[in-house]
Amino acid sequence: MNQNSKKCLYCEVENDSNNENCSHCGMALPTKHPNDKQTTISLFVKVFWGIVLFCVIMMAYLPR
Ligand SMILES: [Zn+2]
Repeated sequence: MNQNSKKCLYCEVENDSNNENCSHCGMALPTKHPNDKQTTISLFVKVFWGIVLFCVIMMAYLPR
């Protein structure tokens, strides 16, 4: 998929990523940028390691 284009949610026409509105129907395009995905992944990694750390601590404290 071309990262420099955004697909209109309403008419599914590919638009230039610089466009704020669809060139076909004029509706506002999704404001997602490629960087947003990276931010989501790094947040997911932080949450994942938080859960792993929690599990390790719980295993250490669990009665055997
Ligand atoms: Zn459109």
